Amino acid sequence: MDADFEQPPQPDVIADERFHGLTRLAQRHFGVASALLMQYRDGQPALRASSGNPPSVHLDGAQCNTPIFASDGQPLGELILLGRNQLHPGEQQLLEELVQLAAAALQAEQRESALKLQVAVLRESQDRLALAIDNSGTGVWDRDVLNNQIHYSAGWKALLGYEAHELTPDLCDSYTRVHPDDLAFVQATIQAHFQQRISAYEVEHRILCKDGSYKWINSRGKVVARDADGKPLRMIGTTTDITERKRLEADLQIHASIDFLTQLPNRRHFMQQISAQHSNACVLMLDLDHFKHINDRWGHATGDLALKHFADILNGQLRKTDVAGRIGGEEFAVLLRGTNSRDACAFAVRLQEKLAVTPLMHGGQVIGLTVSIGVSDLRDGDGGAEAAMGRSDRALYRAKESGRNRVVAE
Ligand code: GH3
Ligand code: MG
Ligand code: MG
Repeated sequence: MDADFEQPPQPDVIADERFHGLTRLAQRHFGVASALLMQYRDGQPALRASSGNPPSVHLDGAQCNTPIFASDGQPLGELILLGRNQLHPGEQQLLEELVQLAAAALQAEQRESALKLQVAVLRESQDRLALAIDNSGTGVWDRDVLNNQIHYSAGWKALLGYEAHELTPDLCDSYTRVHPDDLAFVQATIQAHFQQRISAYEVEHRILCKDGSYKWINSRGKVVARDADGKPLRMIGTTTDITERKRLEADLQIHASIDFLTQLPNRRHFMQQISAQHSNACVLMLDLDHFKHINDRWGHATGDLALKHFADILNGQLRKTDVAGRIGGEEFAVLLRGTNSRDACAFAVRLQEKLAVTPLMHGGQVIGLTVSIGVSDLRDGDGGAEAAMGRSDRALYRAKESGRNRVVAE
């Protein structure tokens, strides 16, 4: 059995096979009872390896110490042979070679320790950063594009009400959490970034939480690694909860009388303005056609631009006495005072024609819009404009049913 294994455990020996090889060679070659390799760490000697009998057995005092220096002359440690005072001249050559090997091994070990320390410091600062981000209401995600996996930080999961151990890294699962109305746009934006048509990924969308509610989030990311062909390998990014901002915007919207996006009167304000009208006017109900497709194809933000674009065109067609309002998402209403049904239909057709020749230009692309319109006049006995609005709404429904981009009067 090897003498090394007979040694009792040495608490201050830092196990390292590189150093054991050296002490074993020294002990056997020089025929000493023990060979020890000491290393100076922070000025203190530490036993790195020993071969032969435990050092405590040699109490006769015979020993031979050879200092080990680094190439810059800095002392690194000592090779100690126990049980002999002197070496023969012929043995000196091998001793020098062993000492050189020991110097190289100790220096390599020093470099590795320094590197390990650096890595540990880096890890710790990374952990601290992740923790700081997690506590700021922002989550971090890291997508492995090749393997269709996405890893979320604990803070990201917490945004949605999940514990750190919940949620799989399966990308397909992550898409099930995106609001169905936002999914096409989210995926299209990712593809645009993957294909390097846009320099970064940034979207605002709704996401399903653990409790079944939806939150609004802002997600930004960037591909950080691509293969030689430019195919994305890894994308990392952050997610911020913007539900509160969206809620405030919605609240403001309710309390204001002017719709923030289109600058038209909102539903409440529009109804107030037309409530005094009892006759000699027409009400038009307008609904943009296939507006979902606009959002799906170009994204919600461009959808917003399209709504504003339409509102501007509508505004441009009005006389001072007319009133227009945004009464729903992509639904508008107009009161044309002193106008009969025939003239109101002519107005509606003019509006459609103007819209057809004025498409929204966005990022060099043409985004065409069409609108369906229902028309009705205010009649004696209606008791207010609401009844005419109801008839216009039915007419609008028929305009949709009969193919859209039409004007129907009732
Ligand atoms: P059609 O009216 O021709 O039957 O089809 P549509 O696609 O317009 O139908 P629908 O009325 O069901 O959908 C309206 C869409 O408008 C759904 C909704 O996401 C979108 N929308 C509503 N409000 C807004 C908004 O403020 N901004 C944007 N971008 N989209 C909105
Ligand atoms: Mg609609
Ligand atoms: Mg519509």
